[in-house]
Amino acid sequence: MPPIPDVATVGDALSVVVPTWSDGAREVKTAVCWVRRDLRASDHRALAEATRAARQVAVVFVYDTTILGELNDRADKRVTFIHRSLDDLDLALKGRLLTAIGDPCAVIPKLAHELGAEAVFANHDDDPYALRRDARVKEELAKDGRELRTFKDHVVFERAEVATAGGTPFRVYTPYARAWRAQLSARDVEACVPDLEKVGAPTTQSARAGNHTLSDVGFQEATIWLAPGSTGAKSRLDSFLARIGDYGSLRDDADTDGTSGLSVHLRHGTLSVRECVRACLGAEGEGSSKWLAELIWREFFHMVLSQMPWVVNEPFQPAYHDVDWPGSQEHFERWREGQTGYPLVDAAMRCLNETGWMHNRLRMVVAMFLTKDLLVDYRKGEVHFAEKLLDFELSSNNGGWQWCASTGADAQPWFRIFNPVTQSRRACPKGDFIRRWCPELRDCDDEQVHWPHKSGLFAGQGYVAPIVDHAVQREKALAFHKAVNRR
Ligand SMILES: Cc1cc2nc3c(=O)[nH]c(=O)nc-3n(C[C@H](O)[C@H](O)[C@H](O)COP(=O)(O)OP(=O)(O)OC[C@H]3O[C@@H](n4cnc5c(N)ncnc54)[C@H](O)[C@@H]3O)c2cc1C
Repeated sequence: MPPIPDVATVGDALSVVVPTWSDGAREVKTAVCWVRRDLRASDHRALAEATRAARQVAVVFVYDTTILGELNDRADKRVTFIHRSLDDLDLALKGRLLTAIGDPCAVIPKLAHELGAEAVFANHDDDPYALRRDARVKEELAKDGRELRTFKDHVVFERAEVATAGGTPFRVYTPYARAWRAQLSARDVEACVPDLEKVGAPTTQSARAGNHTLSDVGFQEATIWLAPGSTGAKSRLDSFLARIGDYGSLRDDADTDGTSGLSVHLRHGTLSVRECVRACLGAEGEGSSKWLAELIWREFFHMVLSQMPWVVNEPFQPAYHDVDWPGSQEHFERWREGQTGYPLVDAAMRCLNETGWMHNRLRMVVAMFLTKDLLVDYRKGEVHFAEKLLDFELSSNNGGWQWCASTGADAQPWFRIFNPVTQSRRACPKGDFIRRWCPELRDCDDEQVHWPHKSGLFAGQGYVAPIVDHAVQREKALAFHKAVNRR
């Protein structure tokens, strides 16, 4: 693993560095800061830029009815997380947050017009829908002589900022990560500090002061397992930093709290990724370097999506274009409901369906089970995860699924197929996680719990029989992938 930049050098540089994040654009009297996947008031690039450029700034969040209209579940956990995080943001802004419900392409230009704001400031969102939306907002604002100014915030290096010597996108993680680390300087992770004194709460028709209620938005309160907002992110980061040294050894153990659990906060921007990287650079040891490597995976998949956006619909590897995956709908449904007869797969799927969360190692196990043991098209699993995950991030979800299905950038080789029972013994040695989510197996001992079928337990206690035989399916998967890669 390449070393992280020298901590002493970075630390020295941090104390003397002059802010460089401003683009030096012309000053304006009034600005709107439109927050989207950056629900915090500190270390916030667009808000810092807006308060630097303008004399007064209105901060607004729009409940985007196009996005919300596509959610099937009226008690979607993401909406509750966002709603509560906005309450937290409103507190941080001393009650000066504005919120609106509607189509941002109409709401934002109207709000800017009402406030006489010359510019709207926002952070980049590179998901295909958001890029189209922002282009329309920019067009609408321009009709009225107003600007949309956007900034990098969600990642440390975005788009084509880390590229090969020839200027092309990296297709493999390790050289990308090496280049990413070599390119990193203290300035890239410098905090962007907004002047909150400039944030006001003007009265307008298109947005209200404070947060809407969830029922205004058409949703119900859901139970979520983590504290929302920057307040929740801060305490989770602090508690993780106290145990970051153990990250390398515990990160694959699903029975313990070995990872940070910060992906939800990074996804919704209740935590700044720059703050995470600064914390990493300030911590010593193998654990922090390993954690930085995971943050770089996030940036790698972000780069892949932004530079090769067709991966949203098509496999990254051309060999897998136009392939008919032979898996059945019935097997997909059994996988989705956690009824495959493979305890770790079932426990993980039930946990996801109930909580919106799944440990990374288990995401790999269930994704590989669906695409290799059941030979179901990875896109079906990807869609299910997108509906359920509280940390759903298009780039990481697509990248993770294609990695497991062996169709993606720097994916698992196609002949690498996890044995779900061996994985279960490794990822859940004590079996507690399985017993919790598969109560049918609560009386199994630490060995039986990984494969109860040998002892005939499933018959007596209502646990399902395995829907496939892993050894048989493994041979089928090898033959399938071999044929695809020979075409
Ligand atoms: C099939 C599949 C689907 C996935 N879908 C998502 C998703 O929708 N959203 C998402 O944030 N992550 C996704 N991941 C990556 C990973 O599983 C989660 O980021 C991780 O489990 C979050 O837990 P944590 O915050 O405790 O991570 P930690 O281990 O503490 O890692 C720190 C941070 O690094 C990032 N990270 C870690 N691993 C990865 C990875 N493999 N790829 C990209 N970023 C990573 C996350 O932002 C994470 O919060 C997926 C992985 C797979 C295999």
